[in-house]
Parts: sequence; C-alpha cells; structure tokens
Amino acid sequence: MGHVRTIAVLGAGTMGHGIAHASAASGFDTRLFDISETQLAKAHGQIEAVFKKAVELGKATAAEADAGLARLSTTTDLARALEGCDLVIEAVPERIDLKLSLMAEIDRLAPASATIATNTSALSITEIAGSSANPSRVAGMHFFNPVHKMKLIEIVRAADSSPATLETIEAVSRAMGKETVLVKESPGFITSRVNATIGNEAFYMLMEGVASPRDIDKALKLGLNHPMGPFELVDLVGLDTRLSILEYLHKSLGEKYRPCPLLADYVKQGRLGKKVGRGVYEY
Ligand code: NAD
Repeated sequence: MGHVRTIAVLGAGTMGHGIAHASAASGFDTRLFDISETQLAKAHGQIEAVFKKAVELGKATAAEADAGLARLSTTTDLARALEGCDLVIEAVPERIDLKLSLMAEIDRLAPASATIATNTSALSITEIAGSSANPSRVAGMHFFNPVHKMKLIEIVRAADSSPATLETIEAVSRAMGKETVLVKESPGFITSRVNATIGNEAFYMLMEGVASPRDIDKALKLGLNHPMGPFELVDLVGLDTRLSILEYLHKSLGEKYRPCPLLADYVKQGRLGKKVGRGVYEY
C-alpha cells in the first residue's frame, strides 16, 4: 500500500469537510469531492474558517494555513478526485446503497493500489468492502465530529481487511495527530453503540416527561461528567444520522436498540439538528 501523499475525500458534508481539513492541514494533497457544487463551496468556506481560527489561536502560522489551503482542491468530477490517489476516505450519507455503488466506482476510477477507508458510523464494512473487487484494501476509519477537535479515530477491521490496509490507515491517522483504537467489525463499533444507546434513552425520558431537554443535558454534564448533553450532541450529529444508526443497531443487535418514536417524529418534522437550524433545540 505504501506511503500516502494524496487523499481523496468523498462527500463534503458535516464529516467530509472536517476530514478534508485534517488531511490538508497534515500535509496531504487533498481532493474533496461532492455531487453538489453548493455543498463544495460551503465546505470550502468552513475549511477556510477552521484554518483561520487555528491561526487566531496560535496553533498554526498564517503561512502554514495558506499552505494547507493550497493543498486542497474541490471537484464534482469523481474521476478527477480519484486519479492517482493513495487513500480514499468516503463520507457520503449513511445509506448502504450509496456506499456500495461508490465502492464499485472507486474500483473503476482509483489506482488498484489505493487504500479505501469508509467513515460509516454503523454500517457493515465487510458488506461495503464486498462490492470492491479487492476487499482486502478496505477498512473503517471512523472520525468524530467536529474532526478538528476530536482526538480519536476508530480503525475498524472488516472480515478481509489486510494488515497493510490497517497500517496505512493507522499511519495517516497518526500523521493527522489523532489517537486510534482498533475494533473488530461489529455493529456500531465501540462509540456509536454506547452513544446511540445513551441518546435513545434520553429521548425516551423526554417522551415520558421525566425532565426537560435542558435538565437531561445538565444532569449528564454535571452529574456524569459528560462534556456535552445527549441532546446537544444529537443536534450536532444530526437526528437523521442518529436515527439511521439506531435502526441499523435495532435490526442487527435486537430490541433494546429500537429507536424512540419521539426521535423518529422529530426527523419527520425536519428537525434534523444544528445543520438545519432546528433539532431538539432551536438555533
Ligand atoms: P452529511 O449529510 O452532512 O454529508 C454528506 C455529503 O455527501 C453531502 O454533502 C452530500 O451532498 C454528499 N453526497 C450525497 N451523495 C453523494 C455521492 N453519491 N457522492 C458524493 N457525495 C455525496 O453527512 P455526514 O454527517 O457528514 O455523514 C457522512 C458519513 O459519516 C456517514 O456515513 C455517517 O454515518 C458518518 N459519520 C457521521 C458523523 C457525524 O457526527 N455526523 C460522525 C462519524 C461518522
């Protein structure tokens, strides 16, 4: 698999823009691909803002930020994004059909030597890898939101992930300044499984009128030392993303993961979180 110089990030949403920033800031030539021009323009603005903030905080010099930004390009042309790249990190929406068709496209358009990482939160990486002709080059690289602040990457070993694939992802994670844990493929890995359970329980408590969202958040922060309350966190993650994760855990791990009906109602009402200005809270 060899040394990584060029990284293609597919999907420029909540996670994709953060991953592209981490990549460019760490010295990798970075191509950010999305099907939407509008989304790419928005992502570029967000990445610029993170670089600017790093300079204001004294974490980077203006020259370093400029160099980082210069290493980043955006495109709606998948072939251009993948040409000659060493590592592909996909961060498209959490839908298995999308991930499967994208793997086939990556096989067709990226070098056969490229490593492929998926940022899926809970889908089966073995299943995703199965639509590549070479599943040994696919593994999970699970980032956390917001990427520039969160230290952890869960590296997920699918049934056929090769040691070289895992080593490449580990080396890139470290170059990005992150800590890693290695997880055998299992629904929700470590963090999504625990986190989705806590978040779901919070929605059940809200539905039962046990306490207000503010008080549930306050209790977990001050009583259990969580840095954020479960509702603050789900508003950041996206209620639609959380609902998909719970539906998957419910299907694969059983009844205790059944999504709370109140969460499903909020998603139907378009209360998807901070990204649309309204989730559990109004922004
Ligand atoms: P998002 O909806 O914010 O962004 C997805 C982006 O993908 C959008 O910009 C959309 O235009 C683009 N897109 C749609 N179809 C595409 C295609 N065919 N090719 C390329 N781009 C396409 O989603 P997100 O929250 O960034 O989640 C992306 C992935 O990361 C999901 O698998 C999710 O489970 C995972 N994840 C999310 C979080 C989180 O906190 N939101 C954390 C870790 C992992």
